[in-house]
Amino acid sequence: MKPFAYVRAGSVEEATDAFATHPGARYLGGGTNLVDLMKLGVETPAALVDVTRLPLDAVEELPDGSLRVGAMVRNSDLAAHPAVRDRYPALSQALLAGASGQLRNAATTGGNLLQRTRCPYFQDVSKPCNKREPGTGCGALEGVHRDHAVLGYSDQCIATHPSDMAVALAALDAHVELRGPEGARRVPAADFHRLPGQHPERDTEIHPGELITGVVLPAATAGLPSAYRKARDRASYAFALASVAVVLHLADGVVDRAGIAFGALAHRPWRARRAEEALLGAAPTTAAFEHAVDLELEAAEPLRDNAYKVPLARRLALDVLGRLAPPATT
Ligand SMILES: Cc1cc2nc3c(=O)[nH]c(=O)nc-3n(C[C@H](O)[C@H](O)[C@H](O)COP(=O)(O)OP(=O)(O)OC[C@H]3O[C@@H](n4cnc5c(N)ncnc54)[C@H](O)[C@@H]3O)c2cc1C
Ligand code: SF4
Repeated sequence: MKPFAYVRAGSVEEATDAFATHPGARYLGGGTNLVDLMKLGVETPAALVDVTRLPLDAVEELPDGSLRVGAMVRNSDLAAHPAVRDRYPALSQALLAGASGQLRNAATTGGNLLQRTRCPYFQDVSKPCNKREPGTGCGALEGVHRDHAVLGYSDQCIATHPSDMAVALAALDAHVELRGPEGARRVPAADFHRLPGQHPERDTEIHPGELITGVVLPAATAGLPSAYRKARDRASYAFALASVAVVLHLADGVVDRAGIAFGALAHRPWRARRAEEALLGAAPTTAAFEHAVDLELEAAEPLRDNAYKVPLARRLALDVLGRLAPPATT
């Protein structure tokens, strides 16, 4: 590991100021991803600005019925929070499907959103990787890519985004709150992560120096039926091969709200807008669910070794839709 400066920030202002005055700085959350990448030589920050002592560790009810989650709330605490379990079960389930108990005790909400891809070429500095070192090529394109993207990838990068939590946040219409040199702003969670395009080195829409201060879960999806399901190689301590978060509400026997996001299929949580539109106004039948999911997955372009992801994601989505709204007829 290369030497680096360490600064512990006591306030949001101190954190953003320290970032600005230390070129090559990185914010440090639980460190469960960043420190691993430093040990591998993938990340070589000149300074770490430790943000774990910031007063952003609360889950607060807001007057409009939404719920603000501070960026330092640990994954375990968020999964177990009664308001999250009751009103946003997909989020609690997604968090509990991630990593291990020990990791979830350390990992923060902000750090989880900004964790980097698990592509093995990205993590190995002896291999070509456009995300780690733009212009060097993509080792995975013709290499080992069983776990890689089937939707929205480019000739520059076929990596997937690894967070389970982010998939649930996208389906739940959450917002990410940011504070940086140009002030505070909010970005929809579904638009926070990017597709790779020609710039796979940029994972998200965050600006240099911006700090994630929190996540807001909206009143509009509070208490709606929602669920998360993940397929993986082992029952725990494994990243998704495919996953899905669904929010589904019926009124008068038809779907009046649907939020669907797939995980591990793309460079970002994949909000399934075509499927959602197809479901609006439809009765919850097996045929309607199949039509909607197939319409979304039509866009998939599997690589040599990951065609299995498309039927896997399809079955996960149909299972969750069927559980949230048992089909009346077929
Ligand atoms: C063995 C293993 C298995 C795992 N399995 C899963 C899994 O199945 N599912 C899953 O979703 N995850 C999994 N994870 C990943 C884990 O969830 C992440 O490592 C964790 O959520 C990152 O949070 P952190 O607070 O430790 O982030 P850190 O490692 O501290 O930081 C990660 C990134 O976020 C930046 N950052 C941190 N906080 C902020 C902030 N507030 N504002 C701006 N930037 C910030 C850092 O600079 C860094 O770039 C696994 C990890 C390991 C090691
Ligand atoms: S898929 Fe992306 S992260 Fe993986 S080697 Fe290619 S460019 Fe790098």
